[in-house]
Amino acid sequence: MKKEMDPSCSFCGRKKKETQILISGIEGHICENCVQQAQQIIDEELFQKHKKFQFNLPNSVKPRDIKKFLDGYVIGQDEAKKYISVAVYNHYKRLNQSKSDDVEIEKSNILMVGQTGTGKTLLAKTIAKFLNVPFAIVDATVFTEAGYVGEDVESILSRLLQVCNYDITAAQHGIIYIDEIDKIARKGDNPSITRDVSGEGVQQAMLKLLEGSEVLVPPQGGRKHPEQKLVKVDTSNILFICGGAFEGIDKLIASRMNQSKVGFKKGKDKTNVDKDNFLQYISPLDMRTFGLIPELIGRLPVLVHLDPLDRPALRGILTEPKNALLKQYQKIFKADGIQLSYDDDAIDYIVEKAYEYKLGARGLRSICEAAFTDAMYDLPSDAEVKEFVITRDFVEEKLEDSQISKLRAA
Ligand code: ADP
Repeated sequence: MKKEMDPSCSFCGRKKKETQILISGIEGHICENCVQQAQQIIDEELFQKHKKFQFNLPNSVKPRDIKKFLDGYVIGQDEAKKYISVAVYNHYKRLNQSKSDDVEIEKSNILMVGQTGTGKTLLAKTIAKFLNVPFAIVDATVFTEAGYVGEDVESILSRLLQVCNYDITAAQHGIIYIDEIDKIARKGDNPSITRDVSGEGVQQAMLKLLEGSEVLVPPQGGRKHPEQKLVKVDTSNILFICGGAFEGIDKLIASRMNQSKVGFKKGKDKTNVDKDNFLQYISPLDMRTFGLIPELIGRLPVLVHLDPLDRPALRGILTEPKNALLKQYQKIFKADGIQLSYDDDAIDYIVEKAYEYKLGARGLRSICEAAFTDAMYDLPSDAEVKEFVITRDFVEEKLEDSQISKLRAA
């Protein structure tokens, strides 16, 4: 290599005198900062590539510990968190059960029912994070009965294979979240009259995945076709979590409860029914009335509900979780040297609007974006600003000007 007069780092362009160490190679140079950054990139890439999944729970981990972990990310939903913690704990006991007697612990697949944006996906994701196993989210609406347009249900497993780089052992211990399971409910009362391509047929096809069997999977997903090589995946140790909003189910529950003679007898019990949240009384019977087939309900034995988010829950979501939205905005501004803080009134106002728009926690994000975008646009260019306080007036004004205020009519 020719000796340069004033060599510089080929990656960041710093001149030799601006660096502490400049290493020379055949074609160029690299400085100490770029070496460090390159090492970080290598570490992250290698970590992703050889991510060590763990298929056992440490002995010290009990259901209470799982719930505690969930508490760090998911606000409220205590009952769901408790049920899920127990289900997951038992799932691991099942994986390690001895085969020496006739008692076999069965799978504890989970069915979550709750309005949109109340934390169903978040719960499933957080559990996978805790367990350090492969996790895939699939949407039940894309599946149709074999032979029809759409994807075969087996491609649910293709997604899981993809997220763990086709490591079959890892996939066989993973968790799959099937969203919008309510959309494959049987549409009519009489299944035999019309073909129900995307409803009962799909439910039937799902049974063998859920109960645990060896399934031939098209590795790339989509439809199976003759020339594609299939991979064999055993689903016995895969935990399935299904979720759906089951719109209108509260009315079914309400009518069941009024008719039911058992459980809610005249008198005290009946007056204690919480009419704002019928979901808490959900039972497998309601799932059946809604249009899930009994065999599918049977394979999803842990039925949990999620509560609608009230104002305190929305406030909690904004401020408490480890990566709470308001903490994220603070981080964004901090990168520009600006200290961001919020007046209590401003937070109350955001909560009130989110509650009004009925978008669950997703509404919080849209509202914050609408309220903070101007500030995120202007302030980084203003070297004078070192501190910024979000007040109620500020949020009110920004929301008035934005598209989001039109939601009010919705
Ligand atoms: P869904 O019930 O429709 O699956 P999600 O879990 O996807 O809802 O929630 C949407 C977003 O709202 C999540 O990414 C999360 O940030 C937030 N969120 C919803 N519910 C909660 C909750 N109970 N605690 C904390 N964040 C929540």
